[in-house]
Amino acid sequence: DLLIEKVGHSYGSVEVLRDVSLDIPRGQIVCLVGPSGCGKSTLLRFLGGLEVPDHGRVLTVGEPPADSLNPLTYVFQHFALLPWRTVEGNIRLVLEDHRLGRAETEAIVADVLARTRLSEFRGALPKQLSGGMKQRVAIARALAVRPAVMLLDEPLSALDSQTRELLLDDLVALWTRQPFTAVYVTHNLAEAVRLGHRIVVLSRRPGRVRAVVSVDMPLAARSLGDPILEAHQ
Ligand code: ATP
Ligand code: MG
Repeated sequence: DLLIEKVGHSYGSVEVLRDVSLDIPRGQIVCLVGPSGCGKSTLLRFLGGLEVPDHGRVLTVGEPPADSLNPLTYVFQHFALLPWRTVEGNIRLVLEDHRLGRAETEAIVADVLARTRLSEFRGALPKQLSGGMKQRVAIARALAVRPAVMLLDEPLSALDSQTRELLLDDLVALWTRQPFTAVYVTHNLAEAVRLGHRIVVLSRRPGRVRAVVSVDMPLAARSLGDPILEAHQ
């Protein structure tokens, strides 16, 4: 688990987060929703250790998965792919520091490409891919290091609505076949309901936890055509 304990933070005189506590259970997707500027990305940076909050702390409980190469990885809205590297080149990049054997590297690359349905595009450059495919590359790259927790900051926001639907299905399918732990930031409540085991609603700045909704239904049961969910969309 990853725990956030009473985190508060200000930038100058602007209080961004106040007394935020939550935990991210292993194997679950926790969605963070809230209005623009309420501190969602800031909270993600604290989780990723990129910044340290003024108050409170972020801690990890228990050991990361034994085969984990990086405890935390990011998926960003704008993909952050290296344009001069191919699909597989972008994935290999994150494995280079880990002194893996050649066979293991090849196995990981082949596995994540297959899981994200990109095997036949392994030699393509990012500019040859659609937005949805680029984001699948970024997800493949994040999965490649077998993180304890994946941090996704509005990964679908830059995509058109149809691509967003498809990618949401992809994420559900990926998780169902091989569960991963993730914190998923979105503006979109429907997206959060489709994906999250738990939805954390932050209030307007300063961001505070306004509600935590647990969703018991397994992700796999929540397919595109679910009438109950459609009523909420
Ligand atoms: P959005 O939904 O628009 O992405 P958010 O919930 O992710 O918003 P944050 O990016 O975390 O919000 O920002 C919260 C507030 O903190 C905003 O008012 C932002 O301007 C401010 N802020 C964020 N980072 C910094 C920084 N490095 N220096 C100063 N202010 C910052
Ligand atoms: Mg943000």
